[in-house]
Amino acid sequence: MKKTKRLYEGKAKILWETDSPGRMIQEFKDDATAFNGVKHEIISGKGVLNNQISSHFFTLLNEAGVTTHFVEKISEREMVVDRLEMLPIEVVVRNVAAGSMVKRLGIEAGRRFDPPIVEYYLKDDDLNDPILSEEHVTALGLTTHEFLAEMKTAALKVNSILTGFLEERGIRLVDFKLEFGLKDGRLVLGDEISPDTCRFHDATSGRIMDKDRFRQDLGGFIEAYNEVLDRVSS
Ligand code: UDP
Repeated sequence: MKKTKRLYEGKAKILWETDSPGRMIQEFKDDATAFNGVKHEIISGKGVLNNQISSHFFTLLNEAGVTTHFVEKISEREMVVDRLEMLPIEVVVRNVAAGSMVKRLGIEAGRRFDPPIVEYYLKDDDLNDPILSEEHVTALGLTTHEFLAEMKTAALKVNSILTGFLEERGIRLVDFKLEFGLKDGRLVLGDEISPDTCRFHDATSGRIMDKDRFRQDLGGFIEAYNEVLDRVSS
């Protein structure tokens, strides 16, 4: 498969059109950004780790019957994916309070949610990705009631699969973000699933093993991502 055209370049990935119809190559970069791009650094090796970690998670989900865009990992930084028409929505699932939710609601970090909370955000950097209710999603025409319901069910299924898998490897899945798209009129999970898009805490010590190490200048960033990969591949 050959890359033919750079279709889209985001903060952490490049999407390439290929000579294979309906297929794209997703390339993971070493750029780390936070606070809507205000903080930006190149962290050598991050892309290679996120490609491996994401490939593991997508394989696990495909095997569990979740429809994802993942086809195969083809190099250190590249995976082949199905071409999707992405919905402009970020779906966040929260098992434990952290991040923006703690700030927005003034609650204590670490509070557990059972059942987990599903939230929606508008994917729009200029507006700083505002939170949306389910009514906003449908009233703004971002997607249909049917796809919204399907997305919520899929997000909760992904949560229960990943939570169980990670628990066995001593990692608590605090929260994560998913993005979905459509292919031939069907809803498909796209984007990536990595320590850039999830919060992972060591189940025993509570140590942060995700992008919060970068957001909060905690150091040991690549070491933490490496440890996630080690545990995920064991
Ligand atoms: N997240 C993401 N991309 C975004 C916003 C959030 O991948 O543009 C992930 C983030 O890494 C975390 C979860 O979604 O795992 C919830 O993020 P939150 O709303 O707490 O926002 P943040 O604290 O990242 O501003």
